[in-house]
Amino acid sequence: MRDLIIIGGGPAGLTAGIYASRARLDVQLLEMTAPGGQILVSDLVENYPGFPGGISGGELMERMAEQARRLDLSIAVGEVTSVDFSGPLKKLALSDGKKIETKTVIIATGATPRKLGVPGENRFYGRGVSYCATCDGPFFRDKVVVAVGGGDTAVQESLFLTKFAKKVHLVHRRDALRAARILQERALGNDKLVMEWDSVVTSINGNDDVESVTVKNLKTGKARELAADGCFVWVGIEPNSGFLKDAVKLDEQGFVVTDATMATSAPGVFAAGDVRNTPLRQVATAVGDAAIAAMSAEHYIETMK
Ligand code: NAP
Repeated sequence: MRDLIIIGGGPAGLTAGIYASRARLDVQLLEMTAPGGQILVSDLVENYPGFPGGISGGELMERMAEQARRLDLSIAVGEVTSVDFSGPLKKLALSDGKKIETKTVIIATGATPRKLGVPGENRFYGRGVSYCATCDGPFFRDKVVVAVGGGDTAVQESLFLTKFAKKVHLVHRRDALRAARILQERALGNDKLVMEWDSVVTSINGNDDVESVTVKNLKTGKARELAADGCFVWVGIEPNSGFLKDAVKLDEQGFVVTDATMATSAPGVFAAGDVRNTPLRQVATAVGDAAIAAMSAEHYIETMK
């Protein structure tokens, strides 16, 4: 039986692994594919201290994973499908049928992009509809694309798209962006980025690939069909917490509720990073959460003795 199982290998999971390994806990990190998490798709992380020129999400995560491996963190591929946190020993069931028992758990499963839910979104996924500018932006060189959303992701990624596309229509449902001021300033000062204020996408259209996007102005009620080769959707995130069911308390959106020590409603179970109900979702806050969660797990194990 392990001291600690960390579920998820993004910035929060790897940081928890680094701290737990240094505390000499018998710890294993489970990750569905390879370590990295959502930040992998970010071409430039400018607000993680220590990298004055910024660093790509991919390189930052490579460095975190290397650091964890140097400290002998065991990283295994495994998808947790259900949990039983009712007893003193925590039980995890994996998709390959394996069962794991552990004294403590850190949930660091992050979040995934929310879908728009409009006609054409699923049909044209991979054929013009995308959730990742770093992955797909280069396919849109000298083309016109529509982007949707008004948060940090939408604005930052739309700015990245302007390096390739000749024009980016950024469709936002209100008349003010939610994104950080520095990103707003860059967006509003970029000639290739055209704001479509007070508007929503109602359908994504085409034959084999995306050919146009229908955008409705919420103030006038008028719909327009914008000719476009792609549609990038960045309308927020949803927590990867479905496998938890009723094992820990979740908020109304499904994010895991914790206290200041990162403890969930189940004793011995902690959460860190984007899956947690936190006011700020950044690499910096995820790694901070994780350091606290690892320390809390260590303290909890001490009290079991
Ligand atoms: P977000 O901050 O929740 O923003 C989602 C955006 O999508 C909002 O502008 C929202 O509009 C809009 N929206 C939501 N549902 C919609 C719908 N059905 N139709 C049309 N628009 C819709 O999500 P995010 O930008 O993905 O960011 C997630 C977290 O990661 C945030 O905490 C963010 O700060 C963080 N992040 C930080 C950075 C950075 O620091 N550089 C980069 C990326 C992400 P309203 O504004 O009207 O609500």
